[in-house]
Amino acid sequence: MAAFTIPDPVVDTDDVLELAADLVVMPNRGRQLVPNIGIVGGTHSVLVVETGMGPRNAENVLAFATEYAKGRRLYLTTTHFHPEHAFGAQAFAGEATYLVNGAQAEDLAVKGAGYLQMFRGLGESVARRLDGVVPAVPDLVYDDAHELDLGGRVVRMRATGRAHSKGDQVVTVPDAGVMFTGDLVEAGQFAIFPWFPPHDTDVSGVRWIEVMERLVRQDPRVVVPGHGEVGDAGLLTDVHDYLRLLRDETWRRRDSATARETIVEEVRALMIERHPEWEGREWIESGVGCLCAEHGA
Ligand SMILES: [Zn+2]
Repeated sequence: MAAFTIPDPVVDTDDVLELAADLVVMPNRGRQLVPNIGIVGGTHSVLVVETGMGPRNAENVLAFATEYAKGRRLYLTTTHFHPEHAFGAQAFAGEATYLVNGAQAEDLAVKGAGYLQMFRGLGESVARRLDGVVPAVPDLVYDDAHELDLGGRVVRMRATGRAHSKGDQVVTVPDAGVMFTGDLVEAGQFAIFPWFPPHDTDVSGVRWIEVMERLVRQDPRVVVPGHGEVGDAGLLTDVHDYLRLLRDETWRRRDSATARETIVEEVRALMIERHPEWEGREWIESGVGCLCAEHGA
């Protein structure tokens, strides 16, 4: 999200990237508000990870997945409830079994309508993509962990606990060493803090750091971030290091009673100096805002 004009967030289903046998990604190719979308196959079933924003994008993703599946059963999951990740799920109704963790189902139910309204305000192209969106109700909801058997391949779904959102979920394909992180990880971009007080203050920098510690320990071969180029486990350590530095620099200033404006200004300058090539600089300030409201465990 950003205050400037956002180009049409269209998902490109033409040019997929093969990450492993029977496992492809539709890369977002640097497009704003387009997520990386995964398709993971087993002998009898195929899992789609993320829908793209709005029913028309999702219909295209579904058409691709249906052709890819060649008669295999379809499942859909989303890493979290944000509009470009989950607000196309309605297009899969009756075609795929939509499966998410409980906290994410709650986010969809409680916050879906508010986010729909907020995102419609981001510009005409986004509003058009969101035309006709009805926040979907998942078919199956698990608590903390689920193993989805696709036939000869088991996909591991794990609710991480509150971090980028309350209902974040990480999806891993152990036999291929592939991890889908959603917006817990972005490549080439500052971590997105959806810190919008008083409307949404669920993001937690402190919890996010704990989640990243756990993900780093899993040491996946391939990491599919929410947005940006697919990479290796280095993407996880980049985010972990960034979040810790953001926390330490923010807290040091806050705890010495530095004025909020000064904290933002100094921390922002420091982070840009550290990562001059990263996009999404506006998210540094919301990260500082979030961490200023948080304390250590
Ligand atoms: Zn998100």
